[in-house]
Amino acid sequence: MLKTADIVIIGGGISGCAIAYNLAKKGVKNIVVLEKNYLASGATGRCGAGIRQQWGTEMNCRVAMESIKFFETANEELEYDGDIEFKQGGYLIVASTPKEDEQFKKNVELQKSLGMEVDFITSHEAKEIVPFLNIDKITSATFCPKDGHLNPFLTTDAYAKAARRLGVKIYTFTTVTGIKTENGRITGVMTDKGDIATNVVVNAAGGYSKSIGDMVGVDIPVFSERHQILVTEPVEPMMGPMVMSFSLNIYTQQTPHGSIIMGRGDNNEPKDLRITSSWQFLDEMAKTVTDLLPPIGRLRVIRQWAGLYNITPDRQPIYGAVDEVEGFYMAVGYSGHGFMFGPMTGLLMSEMILGEELTIDISSLGIDRFEKNELVLEPSVV
Ligand SMILES: Cc1cc2nc3c(=O)[nH]c(=O)nc-3n(C[C@H](O)[C@H](O)[C@H](O)COP(=O)(O)OP(=O)(O)OC[C@H]3O[C@@H](n4cnc5c(N)ncnc54)[C@H](O)[C@@H]3O)c2cc1C
Repeated sequence: MLKTADIVIIGGGISGCAIAYNLAKKGVKNIVVLEKNYLASGATGRCGAGIRQQWGTEMNCRVAMESIKFFETANEELEYDGDIEFKQGGYLIVASTPKEDEQFKKNVELQKSLGMEVDFITSHEAKEIVPFLNIDKITSATFCPKDGHLNPFLTTDAYAKAARRLGVKIYTFTTVTGIKTENGRITGVMTDKGDIATNVVVNAAGGYSKSIGDMVGVDIPVFSERHQILVTEPVEPMMGPMVMSFSLNIYTQQTPHGSIIMGRGDNNEPKDLRITSSWQFLDEMAKTVTDLLPPIGRLRVIRQWAGLYNITPDRQPIYGAVDEVEGFYMAVGYSGHGFMFGPMTGLLMSEMILGEELTIDISSLGIDRFEKNELVLEPSVV
């Protein structure tokens, strides 16, 4: 293992690998990524991997639109020898309350003003897109045909391989156990395989990011929470877009392999690091999906699993440095949208670390917003 590095990135999920790739592409040498398990073993490999541009704030729309642009050509850009399986089947986001109808109209107005291909549609128009949708449950919907889904393992692999080709060293099964500082400045990282001297550390540790902050005495306002998901047996194509509802608490999509993947949140989950699966989720998920999309209830479930959402008080990520410790950066706290933001996380974090002008102004997402009580309120967050 290298004994010194210019930048050490903790976490081998989509964020860590995308940050490493972007920094290396800009010519930074001696970058190390440390991953305690295998690549994409955290939330990245456990996520629904849905990709949407339909957000309710201009900043999030822009970040997501740019990320989607990247995914569209990622196989070529990353010179990947495989296929990240980006399928743009669209996102059908259904409304079920008058409040949602109103919010969705506002969202679409904003999204269209940014050049997004999106429409506010009636429940009957939604049924034309997904014919077995139970429209008794919905009042309206929005549809963007360019949203979609991709394979999180292959996408992370593509970034990691491209980063390695540019000289990044990625050490898997290597756990960061401590971070050294001197006079308020990062000086090194301790791992179970030895120490690395460095002046820059990026915390991209997903659900474990708070414990990385603790290593340098920074109390990051995040907590982790289990989110569960399941997948059915593969079947013939039956559903083009992701169907999603905030108020009915469901997202579900058919993957290119034919399986239908679905998840929902549970406000009563304990805030800890457990990633076990529960019968309760299976039961509630089955009821929710059968109510909204009845034929899916006839399919057999083949697997269920869980992963960690890393959540801030406004459910928006924390990007950037901290005042207390020079050289300590964070890219954490994405709730349910860190995968789709991956490409821009990589680019914007590389710009922040190198002191460049930001492609999109995300300065409102710094850690200081919580102290200043300047939360970033996004109406369409999960
Ligand atoms: C069920 C579920 C569904 C989701 N659905 C979506 C979705 O549809 N779309 C979307 O965009 N997002 C979704 N998300 C959110 C998304 O998965 C995450 O926001 C994103 O993957 C975060 O990526 P990351 O690289 O920051 O973190 P992670 O993928 O969690 O990576 C962090 C890595 O850090 C490593 N690590 C931690 N501590 C240490 C240490 N001390 N030393 C070394 N390594 C360490 C971990 O092992 C882990 O691999 C979902 C999440 C879940 C759980």
